[in-house]
Amino acid sequence: MKAVVKTQSGKGFLEFQDVPEPEPTGFEMKVKVHYAPICGSDLGVWNGFEPVPWGWPCVVGHEFSGTIESMGPLAKGFEIGDRVVARTLKDFCGHCHSCLQGRPDKCPNGRHSIGFNTNGTLTDYVLIDSRMAFKLPDHIDMLAASAIEPTAATVRAVFEIARVKAGDTVAIMGAGSIGLMVLQGVKACGAKAILIDLSSAAHNLEVGKELGADYIIENDKCNSIKEVRQLTKGVGVDIGFECAGHASTISQLLLMIKSSGSMVEVAVPTEEGGPKISTYSLACMQEIQILSAFDAHMSTWIKTMELVSDGVIDPGVLMSKVYPLDQFFEVLENKDPTVIKPVFSPLLKE
Ligand SMILES: [Zn+2]
Ligand SMILES: [Zn+2]
Repeated sequence: MKAVVKTQSGKGFLEFQDVPEPEPTGFEMKVKVHYAPICGSDLGVWNGFEPVPWGWPCVVGHEFSGTIESMGPLAKGFEIGDRVVARTLKDFCGHCHSCLQGRPDKCPNGRHSIGFNTNGTLTDYVLIDSRMAFKLPDHIDMLAASAIEPTAATVRAVFEIARVKAGDTVAIMGAGSIGLMVLQGVKACGAKAILIDLSSAAHNLEVGKELGADYIIENDKCNSIKEVRQLTKGVGVDIGFECAGHASTISQLLLMIKSSGSMVEVAVPTEEGGPKISTYSLACMQEIQILSAFDAHMSTWIKTMELVSDGVIDPGVLMSKVYPLDQFFEVLENKDPTVIKPVFSPLLKE
């Protein structure tokens, strides 16, 4: 089967290869991929960003929705043909400190993450761990479901880490797919949202407005720190979500938050360097709580399935276009600015 493979560490080294169709063993299930959206971290992989050594070569891609094709002998609770999504984890040990804490995603003992050190979703079939899979209710659309994995990460950030409340004012730095899902969560909490990005992200900011952003700030058109201060009567926001991942946006955001407020890092910053130490000190002197959210708990996934099922958060609004997998390189090399989150499908043929 045709697959997008990262062959080795470094910038580039991504190519189409013909790989053998996998067969499930143990807890694994073989899933026919219907949709595979692209995440910022896939682009990071392409650019050679590797905060920890991954395990190349392997098929990249970790977001998906699909149907079960076959099951390993230990996989229980599912049937062939079930429509599923899953966490990216496989092969965690189940008995280390992280696993016992309910965080198998942090297990140091041979844990695999699909798309990073075991074969991922940008191909026809992927092996997932049945213990990490969720059956989709009939009314959830397969395309929307394909982005439940990143949605869970934003649910973790908004509802569990930041605990946004009605009446809060929140700044969201970055109107990419993560920022726009954070926005949906923030609005569901009844808070006010200020969405910030560059004017070149006009389409995303427009979608943000439709999703309920109360204020839009074009970061290159004004002094956004001053603007946020003005919108909050000089006080600053209660919570800042950093969804852009740049050293400069982290610095800006820290200066937009009120004393004793909090900043949650949701993106995975890929740029070396960071806030100036004077900015950091200023933030510390204001007792700004610096938090981070990455991936999610199993309980977060259960909550996310409910939120998506009830239509409170709709990842589908970010995915306006599906491309044949064969067009992977041409689509990403000439990215359409009106497509927020590109999705590939091996079922579509050119
Ligand atoms: Zn991702
Ligand atoms: Zn473990």
